[in-house]
Amino acid sequence: MATVRLENLRKTFDSGRLVAVDDLSLSVDDGEFLTVVGPSGCGKSTTLRMIAGLERPTSGSVVIGGEDVTDQHARKRDVAMVFQNYALYPHKTVMGNMEFGLRMSTDLSKEERRERVRETAEMMDIEELLEDKPSELSGGQKQRVALGRAIVREPDVFLFDEPLSNLDAKLRTTMRTEIQRLQDELDITAIYVTHDQEEAMTMGDKIAILDDGELQQTGRPTDVYDDPTNEFVGGFVGSPSMNVLDAVVDNAGTGVTLRGASADFAYELSPEYADVLEGVEEVRMGIRPEDVRVADAGDAGIVTTVDVVEPIGSDNYLYLDLGPDFIARVDSGTTPTVGASIAITFDERDVHVFDPRTGESLTHGVAVAGSDAVTPAEAEPTAD
Ligand code: ATP
Repeated sequence: MATVRLENLRKTFDSGRLVAVDDLSLSVDDGEFLTVVGPSGCGKSTTLRMIAGLERPTSGSVVIGGEDVTDQHARKRDVAMVFQNYALYPHKTVMGNMEFGLRMSTDLSKEERRERVRETAEMMDIEELLEDKPSELSGGQKQRVALGRAIVREPDVFLFDEPLSNLDAKLRTTMRTEIQRLQDELDITAIYVTHDQEEAMTMGDKIAILDDGELQQTGRPTDVYDDPTNEFVGGFVGSPSMNVLDAVVDNAGTGVTLRGASADFAYELSPEYADVLEGVEEVRMGIRPEDVRVADAGDAGIVTTVDVVEPIGSDNYLYLDLGPDFIARVDSGTTPTVGASIAITFDERDVHVFDPRTGESLTHGVAVAGSDAVTPAEAEPTAD
């Protein structure tokens, strides 16, 4: 097993006109599971291919296990990659496919190789498929074989490029758990690329979010979710997406109040925010659907109208007329009628404030005591 370090990694195509990966620095600890997530075309696969040695960086370095491998051929690197399309040899049996990598990377005898394949196949629950050809396998079985082929080599680093995208939802969930189990059991250093934020959040010890070739944030999934560095990350991580409203900052009184720019609301923050928002006039105010609560009758809150009630089984999504797709995720017992006027409330610890020009979070890293400081629009603040 090994650490992986990317240092100012850059890759351009088209004579430098297209920047696929821009100045990416990132490290993965020994035995750590890093998920890399971002929208299509953000540079995830290119990054992974540079780590594997399948793509040569324009500049920057790839360091595996403390050794700079930037100029090393893919075959020399002790990494194994699992692809979305399985990349199995169609004319070889499962045994042949799994054995092939070992033949290339070790000098084990044929019998030793076959023994190792059988052990791995048993662990992966595919031993009865060893004599089958890929065309005889289901998608899930093919992906198990592709995984097994990577595992049997016992490489330093595993690279996964959207390995579950071709599987149906149920199988994807099973395979996710399976990969996590194997990663845990084998103490593998793994880098896993996906465009699915839920997959990235649930599988990774650490998550890296890319956009437009640039690293936006890296950290433990819960930290990134709780405290995004910018509006892009806030919106990308979490489902449904974070609600974001345009607001102006009113710091005329003792505290700071965010007033809706187009929607009619006022949200009073505690005085600790005065410094954070000093000199700031306009902001984007983010609040996650699951952090919005319907206020009890008589309690202070932002008054709004229910546009749609969407039951999803365990919870209800309430679409509110505060802004486009402003959603409150509430328990399934909360079922206001469409067109009803309700008051909503949320804790100020769950409020994210973004700079509308740069998208950067102004509240990132700001720890506040937290309070339910919602006040009805144009009303006097209530004590928390
Ligand atoms: P997806 O999720 O759609 O696979 P991605 O995040 O993996 O996307 P990359 O495949 O790394 O993105 O591509 C990043 C950018 O680099 C894209 O604009 C892509 O078109 C471009 N690109 C990738 N490979 C090449 C290449 N060989 N030649 C030219 N452009 C390329």
